Amino acid sequence: MQDEIEEVQRRAEREIAEAGDLDALERLRVAYLGKKGELTALLKRVGELDPAERKAAGQAVNAAKEAVQAVLEARREELSRSELESRLQAERVDVTLPGRDAEVGSRHPITRMVERIEDLFAGMGFESATGPEVEDAYHNFEALNIPEDHPARMMHDTFYFDEDWLLRTHTSPVQIRVMRDRSPPLRTIAAGRVFRCDSDVTHTPMFHQVEGFVVDEGVTFAHLKGLLQDFLQALFERDDLPVRFRPSYFPFTEPSAEVDIGCVICDGGGCRVCKHTGWLEVLGAGLIHPNVFAQVGIDTECYSGLAFGMGVERLAMLRYGVDDLRVFFDNDVRFLEQFGP
Ligand SMILES: [Zn+2]
Repeated sequence: MQDEIEEVQRRAEREIAEAGDLDALERLRVAYLGKKGELTALLKRVGELDPAERKAAGQAVNAAKEAVQAVLEARREELSRSELESRLQAERVDVTLPGRDAEVGSRHPITRMVERIEDLFAGMGFESATGPEVEDAYHNFEALNIPEDHPARMMHDTFYFDEDWLLRTHTSPVQIRVMRDRSPPLRTIAAGRVFRCDSDVTHTPMFHQVEGFVVDEGVTFAHLKGLLQDFLQALFERDDLPVRFRPSYFPFTEPSAEVDIGCVICDGGGCRVCKHTGWLEVLGAGLIHPNVFAQVGIDTECYSGLAFGMGVERLAMLRYGVDDLRVFFDNDVRFLEQFGP
């Protein structure tokens, strides 16, 4: 039996050394060491031997099994290593190959302008608020001191859904919502889309406004002037930018003013953009009307407030030197990508 054991062990070791892959190796394991394997069968036969020979034969079979097991393990490790290597070789990535460019979009110049305005006011302690684009007549008009028969309603060219519901014509209703829900002191700006039934070279049915207001004790027109002058000079990055206030009228502020800056195109010398006046109107502003405070329950004995509003497209046109409002809405990528990411 000793010879038989040696023969099986040698054959097993040779075949294992020749096994080309892990599957072949597994088949050999089953053939020699499995339940019905050759070495297992030899072990079973030890019981049939003469008692005197059993011990030696049993030890010999077990030694052969262990030897084959060890050779098998070694070969398994070798094969897995080379399989991993050939996989790494096959799946190798050449990192020096040029990549495929991803198309990078750019932020819309109007978005950039809104973000810039919000940033500048955030630096002055203002928080941002938003409100619905579909508004009711109360928030869009009544609460802002524009009653039903007020001529300003006609001037707004409103898109109505029915008698009560409309597309907001300005961002001022956000002012009402914030003042009604919160208590002073308040410093808020609200940017967003507004809608008017009007379309020509200088008007689009949808455009963007930024509205801002401050409510606190002792707010005066001097605060309004200082605030807007600082803002406009920072926006156009010119410390010496001339800013002037002209008396005006808005139903929701009293007194009211329109705010001009020295023409940034011709530096005040006179050009087509400023209609040869040297000035550009950029903002409407004023102190919040007592009737507006009455609507939201703010006590005018304690508090006063300032408010201002501006058209984002107009500021973007001046800042980026764009002379046609419509290019902002054509979405021609060649135009938009000039503004960078
Ligand atoms: Zn000019």
